[in-house]
Amino acid sequence: CGIVAYLGEQEACPIVLKGLKRLEYRGYDSAGVALIHQNNLSVFKKKGKVTDLEKHLADKAITGSIGMGHTRWATHGEPNDINAHPHFSSDSRLALIHNGIIENYATIRQELMHKGHQFLGQTDSEVLVHFIEQIQKENQCSLFEAVRIALNEVVGAYAIVVMSADDPNQLLAARKSSPLVIGIGKDQKEFWLASDATPIIEYTNEVVYLDDHQIAILQKGSMEIKDISNVPTTPYIQYLDLTL
Ligand code: GLU
Repeated sequence: CGIVAYLGEQEACPIVLKGLKRLEYRGYDSAGVALIHQNNLSVFKKKGKVTDLEKHLADKAITGSIGMGHTRWATHGEPNDINAHPHFSSDSRLALIHNGIIENYATIRQELMHKGHQFLGQTDSEVLVHFIEQIQKENQCSLFEAVRIALNEVVGAYAIVVMSADDPNQLLAARKSSPLVIGIGKDQKEFWLASDATPIIEYTNEVVYLDDHQIAILQKGSMEIKDISNVPTTPYIQYLDLTL
């Protein structure tokens, strides 16, 4: 239901948790975060409120300047720790958060199970991260390309963010029928992503609203946006009026 992500120089976790709290008004049943530190991808998630997640994180040494968080409003699979996002791929090298519904997830899940994938939970979202993993393995392609191919097969609505332990300086984000905003920091050295601008406005007024079928590739110092047919697009940068 709510998405927040950060890539830059600062500690990502506090920014992500603060952002998730700003999105609490949307309603949710569980919350989770993923962080990368030195090629290690960690996921922490809990049924309940963002404060329950914070308690869960309190005794853990968490660091990383790239991270993402999610508040879930369950549509497929009961609200519990396992079905909470982020979801891992089977090799735990990829993590994904998702708002929306993947309508054809059951068919994709079935195909992936034939190929040996095992699913920990019942969500449509977990299927998507395994699907991306499988495509990347079969095609030996970049993560962007795997996400692009996957999204061409997906029916439904989504805002997603994907992180990979093998690309620790990169956030991939995409949307269709579910909002996603990119906040741009000075010299593009920092980026924020969120379901709406409320978690972003305290950091920057420079934003791009992602359009349907677009994928953003964010790295420290660069932002690229392509559509799912692989056509590059020029981002339309808007300036939020912070006095509102
Ligand atoms: N359909 C997904 C799930 O049930 C995402 C729900 C959401 O948008 O929070 O986990």
